Amino acid sequence: MARLDGKVAIVSGGSRGIGECTARLFAAEGASVLIGDVLDALGDAVAASIVAGGGRCIYQHLDVTSEADWSAGVARALAQFGGLNILVNNAGIGSSPHGIADEPAESWDRTMDVNAKGVFLGTRAAIPAMLDAGGGSIVNISSQLGIVAVPYSGSAYQSSKGAVRLFTKSAAIQYAADGIRVNSVHPGPIVTEMTRAVREDTDRYQMTLTLVPMGRYGEPAEVAYAILYLASDESSFVTGSEVVVDGGWTAQ
Ligand code: NAP
Repeated sequence: MARLDGKVAIVSGGSRGIGECTARLFAAEGASVLIGDVLDALGDAVAASIVAGGGRCIYQHLDVTSEADWSAGVARALAQFGGLNILVNNAGIGSSPHGIADEPAESWDRTMDVNAKGVFLGTRAAIPAMLDAGGGSIVNISSQLGIVAVPYSGSAYQSSKGAVRLFTKSAAIQYAADGIRVNSVHPGPIVTEMTRAVREDTDRYQMTLTLVPMGRYGEPAEVAYAILYLASDESSFVTGSEVVVDGGWTAQ
């Protein structure tokens, strides 16, 4: 028996990176997956490739800052797959290059809208369907920078990821009695498009590596397996918790 047999999942930001890897892993473990993203061509291609491999997957345009898109995404999962058991709030945007003194308010708002408000809107949209299903699992992708700060990453990004960490705990205790578990995952630096610019800048790359006791970036699959554990019934007594996948960054 596969680890997610019979489950229906929505993965936001699933067109590439950690979200794509998670969608592929979920489908391989028996879940029916709706990928929601703003990168439509990539998302369509990922869904088609999962289906070609024998999995169940659909793509839907879903801007996580849009209440209407969330309603439509949940409605499509229900119509197509008959329920909703898992939500992975993964979509996110990276750090702005500004220090606090130079950060435009619009840039702060955009980061908070996508990274923090998007998690709230997704959670709010999913809860009624999960209550109907008798419970569910919500996995919110924060960051190691939602736990500790570094001077060169934007305060908006770090604040947004800190918000995800505490929102997760707030949601977890509100819905624990209803069987909806809510946990956060905190990746360290991972090889995805989001970190490409840093990885291509030798000085910044080497400086980042000095902060990782394991001395390397992680791979998307190393995060996806943590998400899989929290999404599955294997973590049935885990809620309001945080799983750190950062090569030791926050242990120092
Ligand atoms: P990624 O490769 O950039 O993938 C993120 C996906 O989310 C992209 O397809 C992106 O599209 C999409 N997205 C952005 N804004 C969206 C919106 N409003 N609605 C729906 N989708 C949207 O990044 P990743 O590295 O896989 O990151 C996934 C999550 O892990 C993020 O929350 C990130 O903050 C977190 N994380 C990543 C790292 C890391 O080192 N990679 C470390 C810690 C935490 P666009 O191209 O349009 O932005």
